[in-house]
Amino acid sequence: MSDQPETPESPQTPEKPEKIVKTESEWRTQLTPEQYRVARTAGTERAFTGEFWDTKTAGTYRCVCCETAIFRSDAKFDSGCGWPSFFEPLEGARLREIQDRSLGMLRTEVTCRTCDAHLGHVFTDGPPPTGLRYCINSVSLSLDPATDSDSDSDSD
Ligand SMILES: [Zn+2]
Repeated sequence: MSDQPETPESPQTPEKPEKIVKTESEWRTQLTPEQYRVARTAGTERAFTGEFWDTKTAGTYRCVCCETAIFRSDAKFDSGCGWPSFFEPLEGARLREIQDRSLGMLRTEVTCRTCDAHLGHVFTDGPPPTGLRYCINSVSLSLDPATDSDSDSDSD
């Protein structure tokens, strides 16, 4: 027990992370065509086709464009909708929620506040404690698996 390596509670983040702005061609170079289509042009991946819709790996989900941590696997739940679903964002995650009236529906779009990547939508039919369902495209995320397999010391 005394030999446990120290695991930092939270990554070191500057108080005001800089806004990341890149040109269309820079994003195209950095991202795969599907990542570009979804994250930069507000596309949607097909249900049940993404990398993470059924993933139960413990870890941190980051914005695929700017690597900002935005969700934790603890908040992921099995919504059955075919996209990775979270009932809350990572504490302090810099997300922006925007009213989206496309497709004749009123939905709330979720984007990354750091780089403006389109992530998905948030709905109000999620489980307790928040009642929210962040329905996020796998392709807009990258998973940073927890390094320590014994991570149950985190009681928060
Ligand atoms: Zn981002």
